Amino acid sequence: MKISGLLSKPSKTAPHEADTANAKLLLQAGFVRQEMAGVYSWLPLGLRVLNNVQRIIREELDAVGAQEILMPALEPKENWEISGRWNAMDVLFKVPSQTGREYALGPTHEEVVTPLIGSFVHSYKDLPVAVYQIQTKFRDELRAKSGVLRGREFGMKDLYSFHATQEDLERYYEIVKQTYLRIFKRCGIDAKIVEASGGSFTKKFSHEFHAITPAGEDDIIACADCPFAQNAEIATVKSGAKCPSCGGKLQNVKGVEIGNIFDLGTKFTEVFKVAFTDEQGVRQTPLMACFGIGTTRLVGAIVETHHDERGIIWPEEVAPFYIHLVSLQSKDQAMQERIAEVTSGLYRDMQANRLQVFWDDRTDSSAGEKLADADLIGMPVRMLVSAKTLEQDGVEMKMRGEQDSHIVRLEDVMEELSKD
Ligand SMILES: [Zn+2]
Repeated sequence: MKISGLLSKPSKTAPHEADTANAKLLLQAGFVRQEMAGVYSWLPLGLRVLNNVQRIIREELDAVGAQEILMPALEPKENWEISGRWNAMDVLFKVPSQTGREYALGPTHEEVVTPLIGSFVHSYKDLPVAVYQIQTKFRDELRAKSGVLRGREFGMKDLYSFHATQEDLERYYEIVKQTYLRIFKRCGIDAKIVEASGGSFTKKFSHEFHAITPAGEDDIIACADCPFAQNAEIATVKSGAKCPSCGGKLQNVKGVEIGNIFDLGTKFTEVFKVAFTDEQGVRQTPLMACFGIGTTRLVGAIVETHHDERGIIWPEEVAPFYIHLVSLQSKDQAMQERIAEVTSGLYRDMQANRLQVFWDDRTDSSAGEKLADADLIGMPVRMLVSAKTLEQDGVEMKMRGEQDSHIVRLEDVMEELSKD
């Protein structure tokens, strides 16, 4: 992709309404556009990041046997009355129809997925089963804030699993817990696992996954070396003490919740009368667990944990493009033609080699502007072609997260980029 044709070019000035790094940088770099408080459009570069996050989630969940489906965002009121949540959830968006009926705009999907599963599961042979979807969700927040971290409309992956026994539920719960750590790791985040309400002392349990960042709203005590963490309000461990899990050092930190997992027991399967016949021919109620990841929020959390004063530093797997190719202008006509020729040749070769390349081909921008934009947008590798680099018969290569740059000879560029 060339920046000259890009719909949303980076802006020279930071938006004054931004209250967090993710809001400031995603808006300024042209990744998202705020339509109203807590509601965003995802623009070409931002959508590429979101798609990468979703691809990672799909790959990891498919690998543990979860099946992708897509449920409606518009949910029947009757189901919310059956679950008892129609009047119990403040953030539920209620939509009146001209027919006089009302609907819910889904903030979550237990009310849809449970009867759906009930229509397919009849025997112990149908269990366990796990389904997930990646979808837009809605919450009627009083105050939307913190950029894409807390919106009224947001992307979410929700996975629901159904089991014949508690042992089987706990087995799958543990598998997904480890899968979540892998998903976050591939997104560049060493997530901490916070044991939430109930803990291991009750039958029902839940865990939260947090990204550690000063922009976080939750106070947690987390291990510096492993995923162990506790909510500071109900912690049984102290900052400065040794981690009970690995012996590492515990610290007071702020976390953004990027995922949560719950053992729901028979809370929903009972009210929706889901039942299966066990091996002895006895009717039983299946157990249910649910597992969420906020996809748009995860993009925000990646920015919060991967930026400096100049801009975003995308982890490789989620970056909109891998290479940011920059061609600088020269006043010398012959040199200008040479720069254009070399850069378009590199651009072609990179595309032919299936390298994700973004080319700043603008002819009306200064060198300073182009370099500032490359830092702001934050692709992992910057390759610069200028009169100075061509004097050395090469291009200047710099990793976004590093200070040093070096010259790569033109004939070695493709080999250098295909390393590792
Ligand atoms: Zn530890």
